[in-house]
Amino acid sequence: MLTPSLLALALACGDVCAQCRVDPRRTLLCAPHLEDELTTLREERSVMARSKSTDDRLAALQRVAALTAAHANAPSPNVARFLADGLYDDSLDVRRRALALLLDGQHRDETIRGVLDGWKVAQRSWKELEGRISALAAELQKGGSSVSNLDLAQWPTYLEALLAALGEVHDERAYKELLNVLKWPVDRTPGRFFVAAARSALTVESRKGVESVLEFALTLEGELAAGRAAPRFGASGSLLGAMMRPLDNATVHDVEDVLHALGAFAQRKHTAPVPEPALGSAAAWRAWFKAAKDQFTERMTQLE
Ligand SMILES: [Zn+2]
Repeated sequence: MLTPSLLALALACGDVCAQCRVDPRRTLLCAPHLEDELTTLREERSVMARSKSTDDRLAALQRVAALTAAHANAPSPNVARFLADGLYDDSLDVRRRALALLLDGQHRDETIRGVLDGWKVAQRSWKELEGRISALAAELQKGGSSVSNLDLAQWPTYLEALLAALGEVHDERAYKELLNVLKWPVDRTPGRFFVAAARSALTVESRKGVESVLEFALTLEGELAAGRAAPRFGASGSLLGAMMRPLDNATVHDVEDVLHALGAFAQRKHTAPVPEPALGSAAAWRAWFKAAKDQFTERMTQLE
């Protein structure tokens, strides 16, 4: 049986099939929808494996994702798994589309598993790329580089999409991964990832989450003030500094972005006003959290 809220959700996403259903432990598709799924998955799996064309692979993902629209009340785990495999594609465009399709009304448990695995794989790849980026300065001076401009542009965007997804799936394990990013501000993680992680964490209500985001911002502000988080690639006035700015350490602007995100969160929760100005007010921010913290739920809760 569908609960009224699940039914409303299903109706918003696509059609309901009266024969397809979710048992407590598994999804059972009716014969025509199962047949559709088997045929489509077989055809599109071969496209994903063989086609060198990014457009063909994007279209294959789209066709598989669309299977769910005919029975939105019972999303199939096989469809979600197929889409999650897209998070290993050679093309980051394909990975990003696979992630977006996965987050759009697909089987919940397989979606969470896919996002978590995709995040872990992407983190490993990013660390490798990070190592090459560290050697980039020397290489650029010699006129060659093992890091392509495409990698530099696409990888950060994909990582940001995964950080947003870790918040969007509203799952304890995913949330833990997200807060792990905010452990220590001076570790060669690009500032934009911190901002993306903080924004994503604040799409969910959780006392621990709010505290982690706030403490992270205040620690980063302190480290910057003490001169312990200098740009890795030189001042933004230098050629390399300007080129690498999007991948460089966090700056005071990133602290400001995170604190503004907290301010917006506070407004949605109708807490006492946050400190103004946001920067240089660490003691006032901690006093604000102390006063407001009982208004935040302890367990993570989806924001309205
Ligand atoms: Zn059906």
